[in-house]
This record gives sequence, C-alpha cells and structure tokens, in this order.
Amino acid sequence: NAALDLRSAIISVVLRKIDELAKLNIELERSNQELDAFAYIASHDLKEPLRGIHNYSNFLIEDYGEILNEEGKAKLRTLIRLTQRMEDLIDSLLRFSRLGRVDLLLQQIDLNIVLQRILDLLSARIEETGAVINIHRPLPIVYCDRIQIGEVFSNLITNAIKYNDKVEKLVEIGYTEASETVTFYVKDNGIGIREKHFEAIFRIFKRLHSPNKYGGGTGAGLTIAKKIVERHGGKIWVESTYGEGSTFYFTLQKVN
Ligand code: ADP
Repeated sequence: NAALDLRSAIISVVLRKIDELAKLNIELERSNQELDAFAYIASHDLKEPLRGIHNYSNFLIEDYGEILNEEGKAKLRTLIRLTQRMEDLIDSLLRFSRLGRVDLLLQQIDLNIVLQRILDLLSARIEETGAVINIHRPLPIVYCDRIQIGEVFSNLITNAIKYNDKVEKLVEIGYTEASETVTFYVKDNGIGIREKHFEAIFRIFKRLHSPNKYGGGTGAGLTIAKKIVERHGGKIWVESTYGEGSTFYFTLQKVN
C-alpha cells in the first residue's frame, strides 16, 4: 500500500508539472504573438515618416540640384541611401513579424513548378552574374505552403549567387530521401562561411559582411527561412568550407 501511495503521489506531481509546463508554453506563445504584433505596428509607423524623408530628399536633388554644390548633392545622396537602407530593414522586420501571423496553407506541392517560377523571377540576376544553376530533377512532391517554401528556396538561391566571387558561379539544388523526411540542399562554390558563424547567420539582422560588400542585404533572409522551415516541422542548417563554398540543407515531411 505504501508503495502504491508513493506511486500515485509521484504520478500526481508529474501530472501537475506537465500542466504547469503546458501553461507556460501557452504564455510564451502569447508573448511571442504580442512581440510580433508590436514589431508589425512599430514598423508600420516608422515607414511613413521615412518615406517622407526619402521623397523630400529626392525632390531636393531633382528640383534644387542646380543651386546645390557637389558636396551638398553628395550629402543628399547619402541621405537617400541611408533612408533606403532603413526602409529595407523595416520591410524585413515586417515580413518577419507577418510570418507569425499568417496561417500555413498546407497542400501537396510539386516543387518542380515552384523552382521554375523562382528561377524565372531571378532570371535577371542569374543572367547578370552568369551563375549556372543546376537542379537535380525531378524534385519530389511535398506537403507544404507553396509561397513560404518558395521563399526559402528563393532566399537560399539568392544568397548562393550573391556571396560568391568566383568567375564561374555554380549553384546546385537537389535532395535526399529518408523514410519520413526529404532533405533539400542548395550548394554553392562561393565565399564560404567559418564554422563559428554557422548558427549566428540564422539570427535576425546578423550579417557577416558590410552591406556594401556583396550587395545590400538586411540579414533577415535566413531568419525568415528558419522560421518557415521550423513552422513546417523541419530543420535548417549549413555546412561550409571557408573559401570553397557552402551547402544549406533543410528538411520537410515526406508525402507517402
Ligand atoms: P542577407 O543576405 O540579407 O544579409 P541572410 O539572413 O540571408 O541576410 O544571410 C545572413 C548572412 O549570412 C549574410 O549577410 C552572409 O554574411 C551570410 N551568408 C548567407 N548565405 C551565404 C552563402 N551562401 N555563402 C556565404 N555566406 C552566406
């Protein structure tokens, strides 16, 4: 009897702890949503005055350019560039916070079509850089949100081209299958990433280079990709050799 009492006492403590944990989780979820809502409102209100500064600076250069000296014009151009950069950052923040507010639309998606559409959208950049994109077709059908997973591929492919100073920029896209999951990869022969940065690059606004060096970016792309993949129940990570190239991987559930 004593043993039975002890067992039911332990079980009731464990159940109570599970209940406490569940409540904590709900609270955490709620404060995450509040944070997202705050970021959304704050960035919306920031955008408007910035747009004004941008427009007025453009107006000054266009309409008063003749009476300004070179130094004045250069300062105005810097002002426009900085304002543009802030607008880009706010757009990233908005996209990031919006993600948590939009429900996933899960469907069986043919990734061959998704990838083709993304390559069409990126065609100007691909042509301009001479990048060669090699897709191991056919890609599988997966259960996912078409637009969001499209955004993950788009971010990874854009980075694979952008962070690459080789004359012949190569990007390889493919996948491997396990019983429950499909692991996709986007491999490049670009500048590579040091191992100590493998985790940090997925944090919001984390960039390893100045915005001027490899074309302006805001450091939100990989954070957004991570959030999307994790919402799908998957994982995303990178393997890289500095100076030789990087491979980004992410997993999705398989359609059986
Ligand atoms: P962004 O490209 O807008 O700066 P991301 O979140 O997409 O932001 O990437 C974060 C940082 O990770 C980049 O600034 C860059 O330093 C590094 N990075 C991302 N992709 C690659 C890649 N394929 N090769 C090398 N570095 C990369």
